Amino acid sequence: MVYKPTTTQLQINLQNRLGIVSPSPLQPIEFKDNTSEDTTFYVKRDDRIHPIVSGNKWRKLSPVITKLYTNLADTPPKLMSFGGGYSNHLHALGYCCYLLGWPFVACVRGDYSNNLTPMLKDLTSWHTKIVWMNKLDYRRKNDDSFIKALTQQYCAEHVIPEGGSHADSLEGMATLISELPAEIDAIVCPVASGGTMAGLIQAITKSKRDIAVLGIAVLKGQDYLEELVQSLLANKSLSINIEHRFHFGGYAKRDATLTEFCQEFTQRHNMPIEPVYSGKLFFGVTQLISEGYFDQYRHVVILHTGGLQGARQTS
Ligand SMILES: *Cc1c(COP(=O)(O)O)cnc(C)c1O
Repeated sequence: MVYKPTTTQLQINLQNRLGIVSPSPLQPIEFKDNTSEDTTFYVKRDDRIHPIVSGNKWRKLSPVITKLYTNLADTPPKLMSFGGGYSNHLHALGYCCYLLGWPFVACVRGDYSNNLTPMLKDLTSWHTKIVWMNKLDYRRKNDDSFIKALTQQYCAEHVIPEGGSHADSLEGMATLISELPAEIDAIVCPVASGGTMAGLIQAITKSKRDIAVLGIAVLKGQDYLEELVQSLLANKSLSINIEHRFHFGGYAKRDATLTEFCQEFTQRHNMPIEPVYSGKLFFGVTQLISEGYFDQYRHVVILHTGGLQGARQTS
């Protein structure tokens, strides 16, 4: 008889091959200006899941990669996805494909061929096929006929949307919710393409737990982000609570205040944050604490989604 491993064994085998830390640590954090003595704050350290396959990108990719891994055919699956020149998503997916020996096509917005970012240099060393796209073409990244032509041209079989946010990816956040102790009554996360927040809301609803979800927008997108999160949810009537005061002018935009905040926070808490996602998240949380926003909760989790690679300077 041929030995056939179970799906659970294959899942564990996959995590071992990639070096995934599961569950991620949950650690208490003391804020210097926390005046609400009855509220305790914790950080869910998804940045510690993996040094490269960062935080929420692994959460979102894991359902797709696990499904492919547990149903492997004779030839490895060939994947394609989309992102910018600093994309944590392309970086995480590129690394997984490299370790697993799966061909990967990365469609990148813009042409960096004469000036590779550190992220793109990594992809190149991991044998990713990079396709440079102008802005007009890139805008068609969710357009069926465009994707069909691309997949034919590059012989790709599985297309994962930009940021890894799509209905299948939400399942990965259910694992995160199952890792949280029962007393948690609120969770705060950054919002960009919406998959993380939508996944949290969906997992909480499904598990019938009573945990409030607050999103901190890292880009300018009042109403747009609410609609984006809503569009990913199966149940369209769930309310979406996003704070829009802490994007610092737009995606990846920053000023001296934010840069200083990140440096000071990293030192004080011995916990690295960067200005694109976690910096804005913790800046927003600090401000909301001073406004007494969290007084209504007892045990608040702040989700550190990782993403430290994206903050590397171009060398
Ligand atoms: C991509 C990313 C986010 C944004 O998550 P969405 O699901 O796109 O809203 C947040 N933090 C980090 C570190 C990321 O890489």
